[in-house]
Amino acid sequence: MQTKISRRTVVKSAIAAGAFIPALGFIDTAMAAAAMPALDPSEPTAKALGYVKDTATVDAKANPTHKPEQKCSNCAQYQGKAGDANAGCNIFAGKSVAGAGWCKVWAKKPGA
Ligand code: SF4
Repeated sequence: MQTKISRRTVVKSAIAAGAFIPALGFIDTAMAAAAMPALDPSEPTAKALGYVKDTATVDAKANPTHKPEQKCSNCAQYQGKAGDANAGCNIFAGKSVAGAGWCKVWAKKPGA
């Protein structure tokens, strides 16, 4: 038996799939960040890089180049979006960092 599928049906399906797949990617990223354990600032690597969960608490004497507007959410290494409360970081694999956090590796995300 042959089922007749109209061109309109194919086009509508393709549009729906095109809209849905990026949404899946977003959900996947959000779920991945939620599943990752939060980076503990007292872990040796985090400590060595001066990671803090809140950029407002950075030790200014120890980090004279730090500026208050520098935070994980606008860092090139941050895997989340600007508004995400936490997300992965390319430096700390398998851990999530706070969007409001900071460490010595901070570098401005292009376009941020
Ligand atoms: S590298 Fe960037 S995103 Fe990662 S902890 Fe440091 S400041 Fe935050």
